[in-house]
Amino acid sequence: MQASRVSYWNVDSHLLMYPLALLVMLICAFGFFKIMRILKKGRPAGHFKALIKNRLRELLRGALLQERILEEPFPALIHFFIFWGFIALYIGTCLEAIHANWGIKILEGSFYLVFSLTLDLAGLFAMAAISLAMFRRYILRPKRLENKSDDFITLILIFMILLTGFIVEGFRMAVTELPVHPSWAVWSPVGLAFANFYRHLSFSLPLQQELHWYFWWFHMALAFAFIAYIPYSKLKHIFTSSANIALQEFNRKGSLPDEDLENSESFGITNIEDTNWKGLLELYACTECGRCQDRCPAFATGKPLNPKKIITQMRGNLEDKKNHLLGLKKDEYSKFLIGDFIKEDELWACTTCGACQEHCPVFIEHVKHIVGMRRSLVLMDSKFPNELKNMFKGMEVNGNPWAVGVEKRTEWMKDLELKTFSEGAKAEYLLWVGCAGSIDSRALSVTNALIKVLKAAKVDFAVLAGEERCCGEAAKRLGNEYLYQTLADANIEIFKKYGIKKIITPCPHCFNTFKNEYPSRGYEVEVRHHTEILDELLQKGALKVSKGIDTRMAYHDSCYLGRHNGIYGQPRKILETIPQARLTEAGRKKSESFCCGAGGGRMWMEEKLGTRINHARTRELLDTKADIIATACPYCLTMFTDGVKDIDAESKVQVKDIAEIIANAL
Ligand code: SF4
Ligand code: SF4
Repeated sequence: MQASRVSYWNVDSHLLMYPLALLVMLICAFGFFKIMRILKKGRPAGHFKALIKNRLRELLRGALLQERILEEPFPALIHFFIFWGFIALYIGTCLEAIHANWGIKILEGSFYLVFSLTLDLAGLFAMAAISLAMFRRYILRPKRLENKSDDFITLILIFMILLTGFIVEGFRMAVTELPVHPSWAVWSPVGLAFANFYRHLSFSLPLQQELHWYFWWFHMALAFAFIAYIPYSKLKHIFTSSANIALQEFNRKGSLPDEDLENSESFGITNIEDTNWKGLLELYACTECGRCQDRCPAFATGKPLNPKKIITQMRGNLEDKKNHLLGLKKDEYSKFLIGDFIKEDELWACTTCGACQEHCPVFIEHVKHIVGMRRSLVLMDSKFPNELKNMFKGMEVNGNPWAVGVEKRTEWMKDLELKTFSEGAKAEYLLWVGCAGSIDSRALSVTNALIKVLKAAKVDFAVLAGEERCCGEAAKRLGNEYLYQTLADANIEIFKKYGIKKIITPCPHCFNTFKNEYPSRGYEVEVRHHTEILDELLQKGALKVSKGIDTRMAYHDSCYLGRHNGIYGQPRKILETIPQARLTEAGRKKSESFCCGAGGGRMWMEEKLGTRINHARTRELLDTKADIIATACPYCLTMFTDGVKDIDAESKVQVKDIAEIIANAL
């Protein structure tokens, strides 16, 4: 006789579950339909040119294999077993219905036995995972998790579905399997444990049947409640976060979208519906896991910004306003996104470092929301921190945030005998020095060092001299899109005039803007950060490091070079070529690196609240006991030079750009 089970034993009325299931699915579908109607109130989003196969690949990696969730082992383990346990049990329930009611006999023989074992283990591991989740949430209480009633209901509901499933299985096995086919029963170890327990209690047959019937329907009621609850609770993330992962915009990493200044009447995100529908989907995709909060340098140093709250507060506004958006409420909506839900201070605290979005398991892009709201403040209301006034003016009038005139900007190159494009020079590369590299006294020494190295390696380059102006990066991140587009278009005109095809720059911010943002304004150029070029020259042997430096160095990953552009290896390889130099690493490095505090225009803003971000990071770097903090960004260089000075560590450590270190070792 083939192993099998008595399907729907003792529940003659089980067919009633089909109309009930239909009703529950309609309630669930209605909830999602409402969410989709809300999403449609957002602006149109991108062009979604990405191939379907790329979307499926991301869905597989992000949603099914849960790649980003796995970055943190403990929560990953919990999520993995709940997710896959539930999937296995759902498939099992469908197979049982097919076997019992559709006349397709699948659950027989050894397949049935393996099926029983798999489902029992899936349920058991899922219950263990939920117990761990509750232990973590309610006993360990990590700061990043807020305990709302929704979380409790979700966990209890899932736990009860699993528990009642085993209770029911135990009754069925105690009557139909254990007495007659004990060898089959061992393939359902958890059900068997329950069956043995009932046997131990000497339950009579009628009592077992009665209890089984009640628990069977209770189990079904819980399962139906679960399905109906999905779109109205955080459980909706099962679908919304998967959709968000699959529908990601595949834009260039590090880029922010351009604002359509010509055809729009309002700019940025003033009202929640100014977010595009993909942005609104992100709000529903957030699981409130708090990973973004944990990694935010602003939050960590006591600023009013919390990236998780930015998302949940935007969602709060959307939920509060949804009936107005859907036309279900006719009175005027009187609350403001910026003001009633999000405070201006939160928006200005962001360094756009990208640490939040780099580790968000459901691929939410916080920076575009934050900058979108900054755009509304700057372009619609002319509201921005006072100290930015001079910076914007300087960029507008003089083409640099320091507001220095052209004569001063070109002073650095007086005695260097450099080729300039304006004098008709032809060269393979434009060396884009950047505002800091031409004006800031500390960054000037990096420019000189880089020129020394490039000349030593016989790189064919020329400069723009007085024609170089700010790339516009900080203006864009501060929400002054008009200023950014003016500067970008002017630079592009110059690039076109001289037929610039390749650029070298020592500034990761200029690098990111040219590489990832100028293409949307019509100019694609091959842009290399100086660490990429130096690494290449060293590998080719065009540059030879002969002098040893007996020192310990800690390299700090700039956000715009590392996280936004994935350049982690080259700077380290360069430092490793120096004889006697020893490279050490800070606790947080590469994609986990901690911002220096200057990005997103913060370089030009005061930092009055909490600990200074540059002090926090300088201390981390000092903990490495390095003699040199190596940087590859003029912003980081300034922030750590100041940081070391402020905390009286000048006698312990020097702050140097990689170009300076290599120039010394030539
Ligand atoms: S935005 Fe992403 S990382 Fe932050 S809480 Fe939501 S899901 Fe988690
Ligand atoms: S970009 Fe950086 S500073 Fe801004 S919210 Fe994200 S983690 Fe915080």
